[in-house]
Amino acid sequence: MLRDFFIGLSKNQLLNTAAKNYGLKMGAQNVVAGTTIEETIESIKELNKHGISATVDNLGEFVFKEEEATEAKEQIVKVIQAIHDHQVDAHISLKPTQVGLDIDFDFCVGNVREIVAKANEYGIFVNVDMEDSGHLGATLELVDILSADFDNIGTVIQAYLHDAQEQVEKYRNMRIRLVKGAYKEPAEIAYQDKKDIDANYVRIIEWHLLNGKFTSVATHDHNIINHVKRFVKEHNIPNDKFEFQMLYGFRRELQLQLAKEGYNFCTYVPFGKDWYGYFMRRLAERPQNLNLVFKQVFNK
Ligand code: FAD
Repeated sequence: MLRDFFIGLSKNQLLNTAAKNYGLKMGAQNVVAGTTIEETIESIKELNKHGISATVDNLGEFVFKEEEATEAKEQIVKVIQAIHDHQVDAHISLKPTQVGLDIDFDFCVGNVREIVAKANEYGIFVNVDMEDSGHLGATLELVDILSADFDNIGTVIQAYLHDAQEQVEKYRNMRIRLVKGAYKEPAEIAYQDKKDIDANYVRIIEWHLLNGKFTSVATHDHNIINHVKRFVKEHNIPNDKFEFQMLYGFRRELQLQLAKEGYNFCTYVPFGKDWYGYFMRRLAERPQNLNLVFKQVFNK
């Protein structure tokens, strides 16, 4: 119930817009790296010091106007330039709806093409994040079109989807991020039970580790992480075939520990003014994250 409540809040456009003018509040500053590119580069440098790479997400939701999508694209191109100029170990994560998927498909493909081409000049990878199932088909089509021309592009497969295994097989030759899935999806297309989602998650991780090009295991779940550690050892899968990923600000100790143990580790670094929807989805996933809010309120 609490999950539905926060997912509902994440979709509230009025609150989203209000939050943009309000700065990082309610504890969001613990999980969002900053509001500017400069602040974000400093956060990445700090991660890099600990042997952790970053995937940078310029936060943005509810983009229905061409000017806003173009602005977002330009901001992402600036991030790519900053990654190159500062020589930090980082790549890009982007959400297709932020660069026009809800406006016009070809317009969106054009925007992502520009981003991927710019990143390609500097050997920087671009991950196309996966949003809700209403955008799934178009997102995969976009990835199919651009991956025909570029090899610095990858995407995300959500384990809660019944057809996750088919997707994993289709995208075996791509660098792929595997996640449990963050949105509320109907039972016709997605597992609802945590046990079923976890079982499917382990299944697709194992398959991709054995057969895929490069696997990003994106989870905070220590049971899954420990399983992956055992699995790669048993199957002699070298460290350069996979990495662990977690979100900025979550389980910091575990992030550092995994990097120290010699695993490739990449932190998802969101930044920007449009933090509200992202933050509400994190609360939906794990209401205990509310302690970030309480800490902030009581530490004032
Ligand atoms: P959960 O199922 O939330 O947690 C499992 C267990 O892990 C918990 O019971 C608890 O014991 C432990 N645990 C979890 N979090 C914590 C914590 N903070 N502190 C202590 N213990 C904890 N979803 C998408 O739909 N599309 C995407 O493109 C996408 N990209 C992502 C990128 C990254 C790097 C990450 C980490 C997640 C991404 N997600 C994405 C979100 C993902 O789908 C899940 O919704 C989210 O990661 C929560 O699931 P979980 O696997 O972390 O573990």
